[in-house]
Amino acid sequence: MKILVVGKGGREHALAWACHRSPLCTELLMAPGNPGMAALGECVDVADDDIDGLVKLAKERQVDLTVVGPEATLALGIVDAFQAAGLKIFGPTKAATQVESSKDFAKRIMKKYNIPTAAYQTFDNEADAWAYVQKQGAPIVIKEDGLKAGKGVTVAQTLDEAKKALDIAFAIDNNRVVIEECLVGFEFSLISLVHGDRVIPLEVAQDHKPVGDGDTGANTGGMGSYSPVKKITPALRQEALDRIILPMAQALVDEGIPFTGFLYGGLMETKDGVKTIEFNARFGDPEAEVILPRLKSDFVQAMLDVMEDRPVELEWTNQVSHGVVLASTNYPASSTKGAVIENLDQVDGLVFHMGTKTNEQGQLVTNGGRVLMITTLADTLEEAFKKTYQEVAKVKCSDLFYRHDIGRKDMDK
Ligand code: ATP
Repeated sequence: MKILVVGKGGREHALAWACHRSPLCTELLMAPGNPGMAALGECVDVADDDIDGLVKLAKERQVDLTVVGPEATLALGIVDAFQAAGLKIFGPTKAATQVESSKDFAKRIMKKYNIPTAAYQTFDNEADAWAYVQKQGAPIVIKEDGLKAGKGVTVAQTLDEAKKALDIAFAIDNNRVVIEECLVGFEFSLISLVHGDRVIPLEVAQDHKPVGDGDTGANTGGMGSYSPVKKITPALRQEALDRIILPMAQALVDEGIPFTGFLYGGLMETKDGVKTIEFNARFGDPEAEVILPRLKSDFVQAMLDVMEDRPVELEWTNQVSHGVVLASTNYPASSTKGAVIENLDQVDGLVFHMGTKTNEQGQLVTNGGRVLMITTLADTLEEAFKKTYQEVAKVKCSDLFYRHDIGRKDMDK
């Protein structure tokens, strides 16, 4: 069958890689794709926010199944447009995407259906928000309501930091801010294939959002990940499914906006049980780059079986996968472009392109904040850790940095 993967980052590279491995995939199109994805099939120059262009492409090329990577594309309503055109697509409608595109919406659903999460209040003006923050005290979490690519959240340790975050948020017209109780615990990501009330959980992964070693510095889109996560026992995973993921899928059915696609639970194991930090309406990035390489069974078949209500059996390797993101020097504050990247052909591992392009001289260059992710698999996290960093060191580029401690927290010492 002909498959179209929409997007151009590392997550989409991993999705395309997993589709390409499927015996069901006879032709792979990617829109717009990236230089790394080009090795897997045909990259077509249609932007991932050009919904009409994507519908036209899928119709003209008679695509059998479309898989969407980016949340922004989902929030624009790609699924509604494809469904209206009679095209098969794996992803949530614009309405169901609100679990991610509006933090206030997600919190309201969680409150209504008793899904464990941090206590919160939503504000549309700074004076009331600031009064609430002063009453609650620090630490406190300030979240802008809409999509912010991982950068709209401030975990404020002081009232001063909270005030600064409010000033920034309310400098934007008509912005709303969710203010949350600050939870403490161990974070993990549980992503499931969902269709209505059917939930097929994938293996657990852990992201590393802060930019610096030891979880210091600003939050990013994610600097590396690994899977499985030893600290998240089967019992904890089951608790997360029973108390959070299944009730959310059911809640969306009950609200009349059933979810199809990858439902991402950003979760935290706290002293009071597992709680929800956030829901996303798509695969995680950098989680896709470590979870999908562990999947032994057919990814395309799994998506079709979920959507068509057939039983789904997933098979996983017991190996641990571990991936490190290489980002432009000033990420996340800014990103420089155009630095030449060399030696990728010497890397013994999976190289996912997150932000690269080919320049006029035909050289591979940096093109964004997060640039590459290198994933390796091994029998233990310790071995995979060693292997990934060995391979990362082979990459030559004057403008890349990476965290040195991805996965360290989950290692035996
Ligand atoms: P954006 O909206 O900018 O795309 P995001 O959706 O990635 O950001 P969250 O996942 O909600 O944002 O938050 C980012 C990080 O902030 C979390 O991974 C977690 O470390 C921290 N965080 C968020 N909410 C809380 C909370 N209530 N308590 C403690 N830490 C939190």
